[in-house]
Amino acid sequence: MSFVFEPAPLVSLPVIGNQARFPVHRIYCVGRNYEEHAKEMGFTGREPPFFFLKPADAVLLAKPGETTPLPYPSLTANLHHEIELVVAIGTGGKNIKAADAQQHIFGYAVGLDMTRRDLQNDMKKQGRPWCIGKAFDHSAPIGPITPVAQAGDVTAAEIALQVNGQDRQRSQVSKLIWNIAETIEHLSAAWELQPGDLIYTGTPEGVAAVVAGDTLHGMVSGLSPITLQVR
Ligand code: MN
Repeated sequence: MSFVFEPAPLVSLPVIGNQARFPVHRIYCVGRNYEEHAKEMGFTGREPPFFFLKPADAVLLAKPGETTPLPYPSLTANLHHEIELVVAIGTGGKNIKAADAQQHIFGYAVGLDMTRRDLQNDMKKQGRPWCIGKAFDHSAPIGPITPVAQAGDVTAAEIALQVNGQDRQRSQVSKLIWNIAETIEHLSAAWELQPGDLIYTGTPEGVAAVVAGDTLHGMVSGLSPITLQVR
């Protein structure tokens, strides 16, 4: 097959303990999936989960043991961090029941749903799509994927983000409003999940701005942590 220009390279992520890489298909994100974060954003209660997407090439690999540069994006003066547990889908499907969800999961990673909050808030006020606030270049920093068998029980994991060594976000994955299995059930009712899909499962409370020079350190217990510096 020939192309009229060179196709973009396939986006992929390293896998802990495996020379083979995880090819990324789509990036789904869950909104307001921890109660205390929903409250800080001005909402309460357990509303049905809602989703947005980032392009696959928004992935920015945070290499283990390194500090990865995170480019400060254009058009914003309020770049927020959202630490999230990321679920990596290995087996696709539609209308997956929560009871069957686990067999579709390849592994997990630590991710950041970086957000141009000022632009997102402008779009919310005008009832317009969030893309410009959420789906910009390098908006999906992520570490390597840990396969399920090596990840331990992520449903009981601690999740945290430090900026310049100080806690900004610290919570428990058990506080997800819609747990991983329920999220997969809802998501796969709306889209047919494919191998290579990533699901950013939502962020706990404590989202706030970062500026150039800040160092972000994100962790979910049992997974490879990530460190980035805003440039
Ligand atoms: Mn988020």
